[in-house]
Amino acid sequence: MSVGILGLTEKQFLAEADNLSMTPAAAGRHWRQLFRQGTLPPEIQGKVKIPSMPIVRREPDGDTLKFAQQLEGGLETESVILPQRGRTGRIRTSLCVSSQVGCAMGCRFCETATLGRRQQLTTDEIVGQWFAARHSEGRSITNIVFMGMGEPTDNIESVLQAIRVLTEHGGPAIPASRISVSTVGRSQGIERLAEFANEPGFRQLRLAVSLNAPDDAVRQTLMPVNRAEPMADLHAAMSAWPAGNRLPILVEYVLIPGVNNAPGHATAVAKFLQGLSVNLNVIPYNPIRDSPWLAPTESEVVAFCAEAREAGLRTKRRRTMGRDAMAACGQLGNPALKRERPTRSK
Ligand code: SAH
Repeated sequence: MSVGILGLTEKQFLAEADNLSMTPAAAGRHWRQLFRQGTLPPEIQGKVKIPSMPIVRREPDGDTLKFAQQLEGGLETESVILPQRGRTGRIRTSLCVSSQVGCAMGCRFCETATLGRRQQLTTDEIVGQWFAARHSEGRSITNIVFMGMGEPTDNIESVLQAIRVLTEHGGPAIPASRISVSTVGRSQGIERLAEFANEPGFRQLRLAVSLNAPDDAVRQTLMPVNRAEPMADLHAAMSAWPAGNRLPILVEYVLIPGVNNAPGHATAVAKFLQGLSVNLNVIPYNPIRDSPWLAPTESEVVAFCAEAREAGLRTKRRRTMGRDAMAACGQLGNPALKRERPTRSK
């Protein structure tokens, strides 16, 4: 029998020790050696399974590196390594991981949406992205953001299990406070995340919600999910996110000129978010292939952020990184897949 070791916590792997004819002590040693050093002793190599996902493309752009790994079956997952200088000047390195190949949510401004949902990633394929960044690329990853391809709440159990593995002290050891799960904002998904965040060890898990609009009318044109779940539902789910001593919810707002940046829009956003503990993260729109919209100008971004702050929101803008390699927010997705996609009649 062979076990997908990257998808298991140390304890879960120990539970397999018997089946693998090894002592629990040896199993623990192998598990830790694999996560820390990236190697396995020859005697157990046939007994455990590491997903075959070689890096098939690397696209550096300044400090960022986008890499694609080929999955069994031929599809590719994409991840982005983003080094950033933190407030105190120390370097943090975030890894943006994918939870699916493609995505079913259909957001109009997002490149990944144009692929449709192609494949759910298993837990070991999600952790396999960290493994490649750490052990093939040799990077120390301090933060994980589930902001690559896919909607994490549409593959939630694999995502939660990946978080269990990524936070393991003897393994990747990334604290929950440095892991962000970004969602299109489906209530059920947020509720499941809240339930998970109430388990011991995960209280500081960060929730990020893609709001992207001041009201239902605008949100509807951008995000089909808003038809099934209007902003009132989203608000209810966000209110139920256990606050307490937790980190605020990160509210993402992709700023698209002429669509969601009119005077008054930021004030409406502030009104909608009133009473919730949030930070607003303004993301200048990164044009997708054949985009109907331009990126916002510097002064458009500044004006929107100023209005948001004026309205009382703690507001940050996300620095644009990796746009030239199609590695920036919302730009992931192999264009070859798009051409393969069966066209639907409208
Ligand atoms: N499905 C999840 C996570 C993936 S997208 C979600 O919806 O949150 C991660 C972030 O990138 C989201 O906030 C999304 O709104 C934003 N995004 C998508 N397309 C973008 C684009 N073209 N330019 C800038 N940000 C974009």
